[in-house]
Amino acid sequence: MDMQVSLLDRLFDAGLLIETGVDGLYGRSGQFEDVIAGFERLIDRFGGADGAEAIRFPPGMNRAFFEKSGYMKSFPQLAGTVHSFCGCELDHISLLKCMDEDGDWTEGQKATDIVLTPAACYPLYPTIARRGKVAQTGALYDLQSYCFRHEPSKDPARQQLFRMREYVCVGTQEHVTDFRQSWMDRGLKMMELVGLDVEIDVANDPFFGRAGRMLANNQRDQNLKFELLIPVTSSAKPTACMSFNYHQDAFGAKWELALEDGSVAHTACVGFGLERIALALFAHHGLDVKQWPEHVRTALWG
Ligand code: AMP
Ligand code: ZN
Repeated sequence: MDMQVSLLDRLFDAGLLIETGVDGLYGRSGQFEDVIAGFERLIDRFGGADGAEAIRFPPGMNRAFFEKSGYMKSFPQLAGTVHSFCGCELDHISLLKCMDEDGDWTEGQKATDIVLTPAACYPLYPTIARRGKVAQTGALYDLQSYCFRHEPSKDPARQQLFRMREYVCVGTQEHVTDFRQSWMDRGLKMMELVGLDVEIDVANDPFFGRAGRMLANNQRDQNLKFELLIPVTSSAKPTACMSFNYHQDAFGAKWELALEDGSVAHTACVGFGLERIALALFAHHGLDVKQWPEHVRTALWG
């Protein structure tokens, strides 16, 4: 049987993931959440002393910020927008009739001011831009959010609503690239502590269409994105469980983020795919956490 379907079925059978009838949309058991909580504490142990400002945004963001970010132009296939009924009583009557007749009631839905957050760091840039200049010594943020991507799949590691924990660094080119390198080193150490075999490789985002392929090639050629890969359902095609992105001054220019000396800020972000890391742990050490190697249990739960 296909390895992805087989792991998904085993996770359902063990009650770790809970079926909803939609591929990539799952409930999680207390045990699954405990693994994520343990791993987040491990992240805190590595990054906590850096003094990042913690911010938690809800999983929806301001549509105007989303539009300005360019996400819709680059990744229209992944974006999710929140629509709502905005009609009058007469429209309500038509809606009821349409639903009774099994018609397409969604046609009357109107876009709201909210879109689903595509990556944990997207709501951050406009937020810090409003605060004014960034200290010459840089700034660091600690984020976590549910993110939406429309990519239904039977691969349990490809979900539509999943959590990303991120650190985002704003500063000079040297500062933010050092930050990114330090998290690549830390990522390797962390995964070793939890007994996972990993490799880091250059990567690119899935920009849409033919024009998008040029953007992807450019991103790759300039080493702007690296991923930490761990075998989850296949050793031949390991899964990206962390990513390390250097945006150069692209977000700085877009959001007018300036340093004290007036120069455009550079940014970098490091993202942990929390469900993917939990799934890698279950796939590698088995579905019963009590059977996991003692050193892994200690790393996660002390
Ligand atoms: P990205 O912005 O694509 O680099 O995503 C950041 C991290 O989120 C990745 O390294 C993955 O670990 C995780 N991730 C991305 N897409 C998904 C998905 N569809 N399901 C689960 N985790 C994901
Ligand atoms: Zn990010």
